[in-house]
Amino acid sequence: MVNETNQVLTKDELVKEAYPLFINGEYIESANGAYFDVHNPATGEVLAKVAKGTKEDVDKAVEAARTAFESGKWPRMTAAKRARLLIKIAEIMRSRFNDLVRVEVLNTGKTVAAAQGQITQAIEDFEFYAGTIQTAGGQTNPMPNGFFNYTVKEPVGVCGQIIPWNYPLMMAAWKVAPALAAGCTIVLKPASYTPLTAYMLADICHEAGVPEGVVNVITGSGSEIGPYITEHPGVDKVAFTGETETGKDIMARASQTLKRVTLELGGKSPNIVFDDCDIDGAVDGSLFGIFYNTGQSCEARSRLFVHENIYDEFMEKFIEKASRLKLGDPFNKEVHVGAVISDSHEKVIDGYVKLAVEEGGEVLYGGKRPEGPEFEKGHWYMPTIIGNVTNDMRIAQEEVFGPVVVVMKFNDEKDVIRQANDTIFGLGSAVWTKDYGRAHRIASAIRAGIVMINSPISAFPGAPFGGYKQSGFGRELSVETLDLYSETKSVVSYVGSRPLNIFGL
Ligand code: NAP
Ligand code: MG
Repeated sequence: MVNETNQVLTKDELVKEAYPLFINGEYIESANGAYFDVHNPATGEVLAKVAKGTKEDVDKAVEAARTAFESGKWPRMTAAKRARLLIKIAEIMRSRFNDLVRVEVLNTGKTVAAAQGQITQAIEDFEFYAGTIQTAGGQTNPMPNGFFNYTVKEPVGVCGQIIPWNYPLMMAAWKVAPALAAGCTIVLKPASYTPLTAYMLADICHEAGVPEGVVNVITGSGSEIGPYITEHPGVDKVAFTGETETGKDIMARASQTLKRVTLELGGKSPNIVFDDCDIDGAVDGSLFGIFYNTGQSCEARSRLFVHENIYDEFMEKFIEKASRLKLGDPFNKEVHVGAVISDSHEKVIDGYVKLAVEEGGEVLYGGKRPEGPEFEKGHWYMPTIIGNVTNDMRIAQEEVFGPVVVVMKFNDEKDVIRQANDTIFGLGSAVWTKDYGRAHRIASAIRAGIVMINSPISAFPGAPFGGYKQSGFGRELSVETLDLYSETKSVVSYVGSRPLNIFGL
């Protein structure tokens, strides 16, 4: 790996021994000086120690963000100047691309190709919002004679942003970029498994010239400081990505101060393969749809519906290709599937596979930890395909968040739509067919925030990302995200030539 000066950086040069909290533009110890270890999931080794923030530290971070907001300098900065700053952040990220990728791979165990794709997109998010804010604005509205009304978009204020471990830097970018673009200030809480690139992003923001207090990063136990951020009267909005159950807790707590809330939660996305599709393309796309990022993806297409006319051919190819997916050292460019995040998560995944078998499912491939010397350390699970499943089983209803797909046969368009929608979730979905009429009928009928037609990917800056139903609400990655970081102020003026005397006195 090389950085911008083409030096090969070792892990010890890239990863600091200790990461204090980043508050008001400087690194500070947590109030009680405590730290916790973060690991490399592919090897189990300790990578670094990270400050364990307390409620007192949250108070400090919120105060820094509040002061930076109230000073007015940041929220009132011109769009052109703010756009230059966002571009500068993107430029520095690009110049440190390899460092960011390497640290992300070390801290998540994901493959280098996955990290490269995600960090490229994280950079593009800052560029996207730099462009978007230059044309964003309010509007004028038709009024009765003598009245004039215009609206102004103003930043919502201090934002608590709480993110998960599956795409650490990309999730940080999905939140930080639009919040900065809108003129908000930020208290960012990364996941405890994967906080390192969030600290790198904070450094980059400051190097780019973002004023102190605008971006603060606080690490620590989510169950302790998470609710405290959510309930904090100094926080105007909470933007959360994570599990549906955590999202419910956040929504309940945020109600006490009527905070603005956006929630990007879990999924159990259907992947529907019709008999008129390009079978090889559908096989490849379906493999990627579930096994990318080791299945630890919110929009993982984990329920595969295959038309009965092509079921045997499709499944033969799907299983054969799954058997060729290479697991192992995430830095090896030939590896397709990296580690899972933790020992406890590996056990959750395995528990779901055992449950599927108890429910009558049949493991068609995988279903266990891979074997071999390279898997003696770290946390691993084989790509796993389960057949003989019905949509009402728990394995077809609950999010596994690992490399596990359930396969079901269908023969009728209406019936497969009914089954696809028979879930509490509504995040992603995919359909494979050459019949464009059918593709768009399905797109219309599916109750989900994202529909992929003959496509294995959906997340591009500009394309709104988010869920229906218990997958949450609010959209990221898009122009409308700016609205979710803004308030609309309506200014009404009377412009008639004579004063109004409504009481007639
Ligand atoms: P999680 O367990 O809900 O944790 C997410 C974040 O919330 C972490 O920073 C966690 O801190 C913190 N947290 C934990 N309890 C909290 C509480 N009571 N109040 C406030 N914050 C709290 O989720 P995860 O396991 O990290 O991530 C996996 C989930 O994310 C999956 O369900 C996946 O589908 C979802 N996801 C959704 C999207 C989307 O766009 N819809 C994208 C990516 C992931 P600690 O780490 O310190 O516990
Ligand atoms: Mg979790």
